[in-house]
Amino acid sequence: MTDKFQPKPALLRRQVQVRGVVQGVGFRPFIYRLASEEGLAGFVGNGTGGVTIEIEGPEQRLDAFLARLRREPPPLARIDALTAQDLLPTGEAGFRILASERLGRVSTGIPADAATCPDCLRELLDPRDRRYRYPFINCTNCGPRFTITRQIPYDRPQTSMAKFPMCPDCQREYDDPANRRFHAQPNACWVCGPRLWLVGADGVEIASDDAVVACDAVAACIDRLVAGEIMAIKGIGGFHLSVDATNEVAVERLRQRKHRYGKPLAVMVRDLDAARRVCALTAGEEALLATSARPIVLARRREGCGIADNVAPGIPWLGVFLPYAPLQHLLFADPRIQALVMTSANLSEEPIAIDNDEALARLGGIADAFLMHNRDILQRCDDSVAAVVDGVPQLVRRARGFVPLGLELPFDAPPMLAVGGHLKDVFTLARGRFAYQSQHLGDLENLTGLEFFEESLGHLMRTFEIEPQTVAHDLHPGYLSTEWAKKWAQERGLPLIAVQHHHAHIAGCMAEHNLTGEVIGLALDGTGYGTDGHIWGGEVLLARPQSFERFAYLEYVPMPGGEAAIREPWRMALAHLRAAGFDAGAGDTLALAGATEKEARVLERMMERGVNAPLTSSLGRLFDAVAVVVLRRRTVDYEAQAAIELEGVAVDEPDDQPGYAMDIVGGDWIRREPARISAAPLWRELVRDLQAGVSRARMAARFHAGVAAAFVRAAELARTVTGINQVALSGGCMHNRRLARLLRVKLENAGFEVFQHSQVSPGDGGLSYGQVAVAAAILQASKSEAQPELAL
Ligand SMILES: [Zn+2]
Ligand SMILES: [Zn+2]
Ligand SMILES: [Zn+2]
Repeated sequence: MTDKFQPKPALLRRQVQVRGVVQGVGFRPFIYRLASEEGLAGFVGNGTGGVTIEIEGPEQRLDAFLARLRREPPPLARIDALTAQDLLPTGEAGFRILASERLGRVSTGIPADAATCPDCLRELLDPRDRRYRYPFINCTNCGPRFTITRQIPYDRPQTSMAKFPMCPDCQREYDDPANRRFHAQPNACWVCGPRLWLVGADGVEIASDDAVVACDAVAACIDRLVAGEIMAIKGIGGFHLSVDATNEVAVERLRQRKHRYGKPLAVMVRDLDAARRVCALTAGEEALLATSARPIVLARRREGCGIADNVAPGIPWLGVFLPYAPLQHLLFADPRIQALVMTSANLSEEPIAIDNDEALARLGGIADAFLMHNRDILQRCDDSVAAVVDGVPQLVRRARGFVPLGLELPFDAPPMLAVGGHLKDVFTLARGRFAYQSQHLGDLENLTGLEFFEESLGHLMRTFEIEPQTVAHDLHPGYLSTEWAKKWAQERGLPLIAVQHHHAHIAGCMAEHNLTGEVIGLALDGTGYGTDGHIWGGEVLLARPQSFERFAYLEYVPMPGGEAAIREPWRMALAHLRAAGFDAGAGDTLALAGATEKEARVLERMMERGVNAPLTSSLGRLFDAVAVVVLRRRTVDYEAQAAIELEGVAVDEPDDQPGYAMDIVGGDWIRREPARISAAPLWRELVRDLQAGVSRARMAARFHAGVAAAFVRAAELARTVTGINQVALSGGCMHNRRLARLLRVKLENAGFEVFQHSQVSPGDGGLSYGQVAVAAAILQASKSEAQPELAL
């Protein structure tokens, strides 16, 4: 407080607190430069509460400083909140940068890993530069962050660069506020920094990079790639397995050794021009490819682009991405390297390998040689996967480049953990207005996956200093994640909140768009446990963040064999045909489903007696069943393969195909009885088309159109009853671009306001974020009920 009787000082002093992604992104040097340019005195320092700045000078200068701070922050920074408070001037001269301190509670972001910036790339390829061809070049605008950080504050001693003391040249850059490498924590060079070497599958060294510009290891690696060998290459978030993507034989050998037979492989190409040559890119896809997060982008493959057919068999898309580490740029600097398969180095669904010894042990039977280095990866992080769905960039897998950036929540959450769903698990920690999603963790069914989950949870809890007070989990009692949550909460005496799967999907979409009222939620999904014990997945919900009601659903059919019906969709085809009134024992029905008489008999017994044949309303399973009949595919090699191929076969069909009919039957909203969406008429029309010789593409398009029309009609019924006009779209089926586009267009034509995911995956990768939204809303509601006198 200033005393009003004192003369007004000519100089003012202000304390400014900045929260957001402000550490490890060149923020302090930026502040230093700004303050110097405005002629201000004071200091800037990192704390666990963000960045604290004190500035002293004439009022006009202080205002100019703050305006520029908001207007021109460094490229990787993100300012979430900025507060300023007046202090008494101290007469300080000059501006200082304080060493990192640990002050207060953590609310600052830790930066995500960022791709090599243009300045570093220029130096990397400049023979006169002292870092010419140095595979670990970086600066404050680029380089690894999350994956090399043990805990915050993000400073060199807390990273895996701690063991590399800087040489005088690097130290000078690091200490010079005018330098691009001022306080660049991973700063290094040929003299002082990490090294590369190449070893054979037997662990014996083949080549290393001891000579300053020799790059022998990189050259030897390139020769082997050109010769068709499989290389394990240590990257930013883990090892990649790499082969020449234009070499069909090499790709096939990789598939055999990795036991990954049908699933598409991602391809890295030199630059945007090269990406344009292999894929027909939209402007949105080009922008996604070029972001500093460098995700794998699913885009339309060009015919005859030179990429081997077995890289992404059976689909018209290719997962393509650009180099993001200097080492990858060095590989592509050789004109013989045009396109490389770069796939996570693991065996089938195990977590990605990060450690040199671990890689040798686990990948010995897969890779012919290993290009490794001694900068440790402290956090496993797969490549992120993104797609432009209906014009909106959408994250399919949120990992490197995005983790651990916080996601905003529409309301305050007490410290909590949400453990997510069954497969491809991602957990979320939350506190206050922010939710922090873990990287994609892979399948929890194997032990290594579970260890990874716990390792990653421990790290993020330390990083954000969040000690969960509540644990949210899926309603499914049989999920491994549910069992784990129960045990973990019990050990700590914490309350649990079970969240219905599709409610979580919809609540996540609502939270992403700051919606706190009531929406019509279309949860179009694979499988999730319902409140009636059946398996849901084609749901029209009336949802609020804290609760929901089921307004309509896709009519139940049995799922003969349970989980087996997901791997063998012919079972679903038979179940759906039977439910639609076809004689499941008749020869033509068996031919449609590709089933033998014996198989049909076994299934019939299961379905009749309801043994190992849970009922499901899953839209994903209907997609599978239709794909069996249209594409003659009995089984799948990876999750959702049949549905993805069904979307793929229709890729060139116009959107306005007349859809197959679906009925909406039953439903009495006064008595809270949900309506049922029946696929029976669809099957009759589909089989008629099949017999008439209609093309597969046309049938697939008509199916998509029919499904979209039926759910839009259900939403209209819901609006008639409730007056709600906002529709949230979520669930794994929303990865399907044709379905997403058709739904949005039809809903908008019907006058609805439509909301889709962008930052959070609509599939189960986004589930834990939705669980946080539901649990936080439940806690808030119970608090205001229990203590009305405290409500403001
Ligand atoms: Zn850089
Ligand atoms: Zn150095
Ligand atoms: Zn789901």
